[in-house]
Amino acid sequence: MKILSVNAGSSSLKFTLIELPAKNVIASGLFEKIGLADSCYTIKYNGEKITTNEALPDHSVAVKKLIDALLNMQIISSLEEIEGVGHRMVHGGQEFSKSVILTNEVLDRIAKYNELAPLHNPANIMGVKAFMKVLPNTIQVGVFDTAFHTTMKETEFLYPVPYEWYEKYQVRKYGFHGTSHRYINKTISELLGRNDLKVISCHIGNGGSITAIDSGNVVDTSMGFTPLAGIMMGTRSGDIDASILQYMAKKSSKSLDQLTNELNKESGLLGISGISSDSRDVEEAANNGNEKAILAQEMYARKIANYIAMYNNLLNGADVITLTAGVGENSKTMRKMILDRIASLGVKLDESKNDFRGELRLITTDDSKIPVYVVPTDEELMIAMDTMELALQNR
Ligand code: ADP
Repeated sequence: MKILSVNAGSSSLKFTLIELPAKNVIASGLFEKIGLADSCYTIKYNGEKITTNEALPDHSVAVKKLIDALLNMQIISSLEEIEGVGHRMVHGGQEFSKSVILTNEVLDRIAKYNELAPLHNPANIMGVKAFMKVLPNTIQVGVFDTAFHTTMKETEFLYPVPYEWYEKYQVRKYGFHGTSHRYINKTISELLGRNDLKVISCHIGNGGSITAIDSGNVVDTSMGFTPLAGIMMGTRSGDIDASILQYMAKKSSKSLDQLTNELNKESGLLGISGISSDSRDVEEAANNGNEKAILAQEMYARKIANYIAMYNNLLNGADVITLTAGVGENSKTMRKMILDRIASLGVKLDESKNDFRGELRLITTDDSKIPVYVVPTDEELMIAMDTMELALQNR
């Protein structure tokens, strides 16, 4: 069956058409600058990449053009061939613990969490509505970034602040990247033939989060009320002392919004190195002796190593550590830096196994106390698989 996996942003729409259960990517693409000048879309199919510059006044027009293109390019021969559309939804609050079939009533319930993810949820919902309009007879499924983390207990998801903040204002840890962590846990559990694994899953890309999983249940995760918390990232600070905001607001006469924006977009690797948020650029500068780049890399690796050590304690000893996403899958330098900094856990990198990119591989020695695997993530596939499951149940 053919399933569309979709990620709608406020002015963009990414899609992947996947054949299941074979897991083949048939076509993929990106609609950009929706509602803006110079909008365009790119479709990849059969090893070719076709870019079209056309007006895309809103998401419905983009979806219509996508379906027309799939038909015109004979990627599908009728609309009925698409048996489900799976949507990445960022925030489902405490309410959505798994993927759901989307109806207008469910969308209204999801919209309650717009305040918790103002940049993402309204855009996700807009994408769903556009597909409902163009493909009214096709099942639409919502797959939440937060859902996998709903197994966390109060001891982990609460912040030690007045309890009222949670009861009245829903201030708690939600966690993100859940679809990726769930995919990684599934992949490593299948590989090792166990469903009772204690996994520390490190998703290290431009954004990054680390999750402690026991027997398929999330025990704790490093992102929090928003994706700003946890480890240092490409442009995000990760954990900082909350009082810094009040102090900086007074000192710099910047607003809380401006400062929060700086913590999200101008901090992390970019903030410290002053060069780039991309670990490749920072690595190159560090190799050329740039001191701030060297410092940024060291801080980055240490924050990740410290979270791994903390979660190893929380899990009372992990069975396996996994690395994924842009940095985890591709940067042998950062992999080595992180593993060297968790040597106290008995982790030993086998350097002869570390020189590769983007594959599922074990990178530790046989006598490493905890094996470390690089596991490429595939959120689109996970979304498509959830969609297939619900589509089959509702045939
Ligand atoms: P996102 O969080 O946007 O999904 P990705 O998981 O795609 O991010 O990760 C993007 C980041 O991965 C880049 O900013 C870069 O730092 C890093 N990256 C990608 N390729 C490489 C590479 N070959 N070597 C080192 N780092 C890489």
